[in-house]
Amino acid sequence: MACKLGIPQGLLFYDYYPLWKEFFKELGVEVVLSSKTNKEILDKGVSACVDEACLPVKVFHGHVEDLKDKVDYIFIPKFISIRKREFICPKFLGLPEMIKNSIKDLPPIIDTEINLRKSNYKLMKAIFETGRHFTYNFFKINSAYKKAFKYYTDYKRLITKGVIPMEAIRVYSKCINNVENRNDNSLRIMVSGHPYNIYDEYLSMRLIKKLKKDNINVITPEMIKEDKINYYASKLPKRMFWSFGRKIVGSAFSVMEEQKVDGIIYVSSFGCGLDSILIDLVQRKAKALKVPFTLLTVDEHTGEAGINTRIEAFTDMIKWRVKNENNIPTHG
Ligand code: SF4
Repeated sequence: MACKLGIPQGLLFYDYYPLWKEFFKELGVEVVLSSKTNKEILDKGVSACVDEACLPVKVFHGHVEDLKDKVDYIFIPKFISIRKREFICPKFLGLPEMIKNSIKDLPPIIDTEINLRKSNYKLMKAIFETGRHFTYNFFKINSAYKKAFKYYTDYKRLITKGVIPMEAIRVYSKCINNVENRNDNSLRIMVSGHPYNIYDEYLSMRLIKKLKKDNINVITPEMIKEDKINYYASKLPKRMFWSFGRKIVGSAFSVMEEQKVDGIIYVSSFGCGLDSILIDLVQRKAKALKVPFTLLTVDEHTGEAGINTRIEAFTDMIKWRVKNENNIPTHG
């Protein structure tokens, strides 16, 4: 019987799941996902995790609780850096230890360290370290990674064409049709923020679906090409050394400066230190370029009715603005 490996549907799930899934599948491992985020997962996460943590980290604890009795291993990589000379939020670094200390009776955790700050060489080391939990055959691990990486490149390409990651994961071919069917005359709104906030339907309260239902084209940071992100992020007076910060700021600057959006909705989770800087940078640029901007801050107590009212008011204002006066400033 195949060994079962649990992958929590939280934090970097939407960034790397297709890569992990293919890699483990090639090694003959059965991948089991936690349920989608729901009230039970949120409540379990909140009671297991320390109070000071941000909402996505608490929710991640809930996903691990959901998986722990169903699998032989849980995969929680220790992310330190995903790009040369950059870091990601320190909460990722401590995540495997936090989980092990907060949740009892866990199966073995695969917590491979991923640190590409100095060189990409360490990526292969991480791949072999992860693969050797299931086989000592070096060639099998190498070939599994190559196949998985090709699949992952296709997934990323699909997203830069305008497909939301949840859709790209769900129905590969149908998504391509969705891209072709996009209505170019509709409003275009960027939904910005960390991927685990904007793509998790429970945390974002199905924001993307609601906008799409209103016939609005949604753009997210993952859809912007890397060279554009880097170009616009390099305009900051100081180099942004947080990988997600570079992506969020660079992508927002690019769509605003190139007039590709009618407005920006930034989704943030309460207590996020990094967002306190990023929001300010994006909001200042929006103000300077007269692009409508709104911030939705979510925490474990946020109610959907309030969020719906904010979204409706924001989109109504943009529709009115586009129809009547295309140059009214939205600030001050
Ligand atoms: S970047 Fe913010 S939301 Fe993300 S893990 Fe760190 S503190 Fe939490």
